[in-house]
Amino acid sequence: MAAPWEDVLRDTSAIREAAAVAVDAALLEGVLMRTEGEPNASDVVNFAPFTLLPSAVPRALFEQAYAVQQDFNLLVDAISQNKEFLERTLASTIKVDDFTARLFKIHMQVLEEGLAQSVFLGINRSDYMFDCGVDGTAALKQIEINTIAASFGGLTARTLPVHQRVLKVLGKSKEASQLLPNNPSKGLALGIAKAWELYGSPSAVVMFLVEEVQRNIFDQRCVENELWNRNIRVVRRRFRDVFEKGSLGEGRRLYMDGQEVAVVYYREGYVPKNYNQQNWEARLLLERSRAVKCPDIATQLAGTKKVQQELSRPGTLEILLPGHAEAVARLRATFAGLYSLDMGAEGDQIAATAIADPDRFVLKPQREGGGNNLYGEELRQVLEKIRDSPERTSYILMDKIKPQPALNYLLRAHSPLRVSECISELGIFGVYIRQGKEMVMNRAAGHLLRTKAIEHADGGVAAGVAVLDTPYLV
Ligand code: ADP
Ligand code: MG
Repeated sequence: MAAPWEDVLRDTSAIREAAAVAVDAALLEGVLMRTEGEPNASDVVNFAPFTLLPSAVPRALFEQAYAVQQDFNLLVDAISQNKEFLERTLASTIKVDDFTARLFKIHMQVLEEGLAQSVFLGINRSDYMFDCGVDGTAALKQIEINTIAASFGGLTARTLPVHQRVLKVLGKSKEASQLLPNNPSKGLALGIAKAWELYGSPSAVVMFLVEEVQRNIFDQRCVENELWNRNIRVVRRRFRDVFEKGSLGEGRRLYMDGQEVAVVYYREGYVPKNYNQQNWEARLLLERSRAVKCPDIATQLAGTKKVQQELSRPGTLEILLPGHAEAVARLRATFAGLYSLDMGAEGDQIAATAIADPDRFVLKPQREGGGNNLYGEELRQVLEKIRDSPERTSYILMDKIKPQPALNYLLRAHSPLRVSECISELGIFGVYIRQGKEMVMNRAAGHLLRTKAIEHADGGVAAGVAVLDTPYLV
């Protein structure tokens, strides 16, 4: 189903005028990113890339994605508490994938010592595409769930008024008023604030653990601002600061520069390049502490691609969520075909199928952040090379989702204005808190739509491929 502005897409003078308005509106509203050249300074900033127009999203699928978010929250939380499941599921992967192995080792270490943490905060984002069937109907299919450092909850809210303005400029005021309100950073901050409160030390701070390179700082500042508005103190620190100045006190309370930390919100630590030996030690210190980690290491592991693949095995969801038959059905309805490459007949067979017909599949390693998956000819070559080696178990195979493309303009600094055939990915933010065994918060916190040109198989906004968008429900 198309959006009701096909008529203006080819009107170059109207589009030019709207694009100029859009870019200035984005700067005014704070749809900002630091530049590649100066990623750690705010002297010169750019607008974050975004679509000129909102993209059409089928209303029923949008509602389905919201309706299943609390189920995903429950599921991730259940996996994080299931030592046996994580151990069994990741056993083959950690033999060949050093990064997952190191995370897993910390997980086992903190369990052995006994958890000092009793309040658990999860912030995740479940991502979907709209798979177009042979009969032309679209189905909601999950791409992945991000359980650590799920971003763009701040900037997406600021993109909304930009799109409202663009639609008005193009004479589509009625459609502008139909765009849905959306502010994930408020919901994220609400979760962090509640976790801070349950931690129970009014003088303790919230620590954002941030990367060395901080291009996406404005997105994080949106969440920070919401916390300051609630009179909660926020500090931004890197792993190396934790290594140098972090310590554990009585009851394994976490202190940074002598100040107690109630909540550690990771916007870092999800890819191997985030770690050197000191950073691993800092991570272990944080995980051993009583502070609420968002996420704790078990929840990060629950978001691996290998876990996602095991969840699709018949019977697994029922074991993880006993007595939740309806939730299980809702969750399963969003799963695409996922296949294990573990050694054995099942893995041999799917590897052969994928080599024979690579365009049906995506080959995924245990990595985050975009740009790591393999497609088409490259998939075939890599799989052919590793098909008989245990190295293949560091990957999973997934059915390739094929959405119906639509025309849009992708606005990027220093790029020409040009119409592109695009596909979109919808993310729903989830926030939950568990205290001991009791869930005290479980909600959906807003959405993110990202859109990319079809010539790119992979990639997110931070990877420079996708751009921010707003759904227009049809
Ligand atoms: P990452 O953790 O790197 O974000 P994803 O699983 O989200 O890994 O994949 C990155 C991108 O690759 C997605 O944003 C999407 O554009 C594309 N992609 C991933 N899985 C599929 C799939 N099954 N079908 C089509 N595209 C996919
Ligand atoms: Mg992704």
